[in-house]
Amino acid sequence: MNYYSTNNREQIASFEGAVFNSLPPDNGLYFPEHIPKVSYFLGSMASLTKEDIGFEIARHFVDHEIPENILRSIVAETVNFDLPLVAIDEKISAMELFHGPTWAFKDVGARFLSRCMGYFNESREKEVHVLVATSGDTGGAVAAGFYGVEGVKVTILFPKGKVSDVQQQQLTSWGDNIQALEIDGSFDDCQKLVKTAFLDKDLNGKINLSSANSINIARLIPQSFYYFFTFQQLENWENVVFSIPSGNYGNLSAGLLAWKMGLPIKRFIAASNANKIVPDYLNTGEYKPKESVQTYANAMDVGAPSNFVRVLEIFRSDHGRMCEMIEGFSLSDEEILATMRQCNDDKNYVLDPHGAIGYEALRQLLKPEEQGIFFETAHPVKFVDVVEKALGRSVDYTDKIEGLMQRSAEFTSLPANFEELKGVLM
Ligand SMILES: *Cc1c(COP(=O)(O)O)cnc(C)c1O
Repeated sequence: MNYYSTNNREQIASFEGAVFNSLPPDNGLYFPEHIPKVSYFLGSMASLTKEDIGFEIARHFVDHEIPENILRSIVAETVNFDLPLVAIDEKISAMELFHGPTWAFKDVGARFLSRCMGYFNESREKEVHVLVATSGDTGGAVAAGFYGVEGVKVTILFPKGKVSDVQQQQLTSWGDNIQALEIDGSFDDCQKLVKTAFLDKDLNGKINLSSANSINIARLIPQSFYYFFTFQQLENWENVVFSIPSGNYGNLSAGLLAWKMGLPIKRFIAASNANKIVPDYLNTGEYKPKESVQTYANAMDVGAPSNFVRVLEIFRSDHGRMCEMIEGFSLSDEEILATMRQCNDDKNYVLDPHGAIGYEALRQLLKPEEQGIFFETAHPVKFVDVVEKALGRSVDYTDKIEGLMQRSAEFTSLPANFEELKGVLM
């Protein structure tokens, strides 16, 4: 399978090329030349394992560039934790994506990407340097995925003072081939630095840069799996609506891929925090990236969502058609707290601030005949302060985090300045 640039259909790369380049040279994003139809196995999903389903999907996208037995084991390691669908009430269920090693859905994409890169890298001579910007969860997942992988060095850029304590510890307590840089700026600044690094000829002449952000196609592909895993656990496949807490729009793009692959999803809700660039676009037809503002759902504090061009690509930039399939929604910080409290009190379910937005979107927008699934994108343990504030009581996750918090941490602080970053990388 080839991947073309969203800026130019003639600019193509193989799967391996797209994985290592991350971005096409013309600054578009890679997109698969065709989206495989996988309807043939939907009827038998109940008797398949997660590994079988993931492999059936991945093999079309990887297309023999990785031998099938190896790809199968990569997929098996990618999904070797629970991904359960948990009913909140008769209408609404949570798809819990947080049972991986760093307690957010990012583990799925990061594990697949790191293992694909590790495989390709065995036959390459030069060390690969993976550069990744994080709003909190990506960095930890990528660090966990690449820790100890031969021939790969990882540098994580995280925004100073804008990640939770647990997240920071997951970013900074690795050592070995993983280094963390605290950037005095926002996540958008971190993302901009990474993009600038990719386009800097001098730097790229000296080191072999790659990215692990959700612009990388190898993160997107496995993220489509869990839409299938959801249907696998559903008895009734009618009128299924997915509410996706969104920041960089990787998950939602992956959901649209799953729909294009033949999964009978009725529609999506793009659930956002105060950074509501995409809901605004859906409402007005005007796309206006902005500086991000800080919210309790920090992993979604994105003012210029990088995967939005993939969403546009799927709809061939047809705003009307996009609106038929995706509805926008946004929630303020105060409403996030109120939702977390209400769900805890009435449904006895502790939401994290991101999942809370997905849940509340369904409460407000679900139609009588529909059933709603929201992604619970992170475990509440990653946002204890917000959880305690919302519930008005202390919560005790000591058992879960003890080991993590005892690890020693190390990071370097930098201003949001490309020349300084370049100095550190070279
Ligand atoms: C990354 C993240 C999101 C946003 O996902 P996108 O694919 O970037 O839209 C939402 N919630 C949590 C907890 C995350 O870590």
